[in-house]
Amino acid sequence: MRDNLTRRQFLGTAAAASAALTEIPAASEQAETPAGPTSGPRIVDSHVHLRHGNAARTEYSPETIVETMDQVGIDQSVVFAICTTTGHSIEMAEAAVKKYPDRLIPYVYALPHYQRPVIKEIEGVLSGGRFRGVKIHAGECTLAEYVVDPVLDTAGKHGVPCLIDCLGNYPVARRMAQSFPKTKLIVAHMGRFLSKDKELLDQFIGLAEEFSNVLLDLSGVVIVEKIEEAVQRIGSARLLWGTDGPDKQPDTVTYARNELEKIRRLSLSEQDKANILGRTACNLLGL
Ligand SMILES: [Zn+2]
Repeated sequence: MRDNLTRRQFLGTAAAASAALTEIPAASEQAETPAGPTSGPRIVDSHVHLRHGNAARTEYSPETIVETMDQVGIDQSVVFAICTTTGHSIEMAEAAVKKYPDRLIPYVYALPHYQRPVIKEIEGVLSGGRFRGVKIHAGECTLAEYVVDPVLDTAGKHGVPCLIDCLGNYPVARRMAQSFPKTKLIVAHMGRFLSKDKELLDQFIGLAEEFSNVLLDLSGVVIVEKIEEAVQRIGSARLLWGTDGPDKQPDTVTYARNELEKIRRLSLSEQDKANILGRTACNLLGL
């Protein structure tokens, strides 16, 4: 039956059902609750766009991102911009983090350029320790060795993860995982955004089983039982929750809250949920 529903319909229906069970505090109440580990396990959204890769290249201000986090109860978010140059992605993330140094964690976007040495730009922000990871998107550049390997090597040397959207390309993901055992690879969307292909998701869980440097990003995963299966197979310490937001459908707060409820509703222990929703990211990023 789920296959007949759109993702939004499914998440909306399920969130409404769970909202009846778990009281979600009103925004005004939440605003007075200090964010942070004192109010429960830390919640970290590990996948937030300052600039999206959609057709409109939608951008969200750091203010909107943090206001949304406040209302949903998200302590910290990993932020990055895509569909722009590496240099501009650095500027956007630096400006955001300057405003909210305790809330936002910047990743640099790696987009190769013939005329500019982006590896130097990437090294520059990683060596200062300000940027905690690298974002790579196969939608904008090839993941061929001659393009992506220098980035993976640089990330490994600086001890930061690469969040990679490989668009479901399992052989390429496997080659990267095998070739760079010292680089943590976060496979976005457990392989492919909104995938309903269970075999494909199985392959990527299998990749994480085979290579301990592979983590799975759970944003855009719509077959939620695969998340429970991933916990059984690789444990929750290599699974990362993210919203892939902000998203205005239906509004940024409801969207993020639905994504959070997606994890909270799973048949998992509280410890596994705490890992997925924040602890894994804290350990990975040294937060
Ligand atoms: Zn994304």
